[in-house]
Amino acid sequence: MTSFLERFGFLLPGLKDLIQILLVAVAAYYVLRLLARTRAIQMLVGLLLLIAVYFVARILDLDLIRYLLEKVFQYGAFAALVVFQPELRAALARLGQSRMLSFFKRLQPSEVADEIVEAVERLARAKIGAIIALERQVSLEEYAATGTRIQASVSADIIVSIFLPYGPLHDGAVLVSGDTLIAAGVILPLTQYPIANKALGTRHRAALGLSEETDAIVIVVSEETAKISIAHRGRLEEGVSPERLRAALSGPTAIEPART
Ligand code: ATP
Ligand code: MG
Repeated sequence: MTSFLERFGFLLPGLKDLIQILLVAVAAYYVLRLLARTRAIQMLVGLLLLIAVYFVARILDLDLIRYLLEKVFQYGAFAALVVFQPELRAALARLGQSRMLSFFKRLQPSEVADEIVEAVERLARAKIGAIIALERQVSLEEYAATGTRIQASVSADIIVSIFLPYGPLHDGAVLVSGDTLIAAGVILPLTQYPIANKALGTRHRAALGLSEETDAIVIVVSEETAKISIAHRGRLEEGVSPERLRAALSGPTAIEPART
């Protein structure tokens, strides 16, 4: 008599199966997470509805509706590629920027920090309001879309120029990813929590808002008081010195670990 294990052993998942299931589950999770904030998720709901109608049409043998829906699915796949081209591009770009892959990117974080500290000092001296968000693990790509995209190496001169009053990009935030300025004039989400210091306005609320939604370090220069503040993980450190800022940018909670 063949043993139970010999006859039904194929039903037991092997190590390879388990690894495959895990990989597919992780991939599905990331695809859904990418979709969650885009138009795609609404379209997905619509698509599910169409599929439901298709099966009803099959069961009831409504062949015209069935035929039409089959055509829609056939050509719809190509249409989807065109319609979702921006999402697909953003998703692939994000994949390219993921932690694992960015291991290979070369950066000089200390030079980046120097330029940023210099820019902030000059802005504070001139009492020019500014808000600078530094990307860490969580991508700031989706916020960049609300402003004007730029591609420039981080430089104190460029940052100061952007925030000069009356310049077209001085309103809103500058986003920094690694050693690149990726956007200016960006509208950040305002924090919904009451803040202790009632004198602080929307600029500081915007810095806090982004620091709640992401792990970015957000630097604020106040045009009213010329004070420098740092928002990180939902907390605002007010009136920091340039030295403290320098330390915050290169210490253990610095931009550095984000990219290694
Ligand atoms: P300050 O101390 O510099 O006056 P504040 O916290 O009092 O700052 P406001 O006086 O309201 O803030 O600053 C308004 C400026 O803040 C706007 O001109 C704009 O540049 C910036 N700002 C306001 N809201 C946002 C936002 N959601 N995202 C990015 N920047 C914003
Ligand atoms: Mg103000």
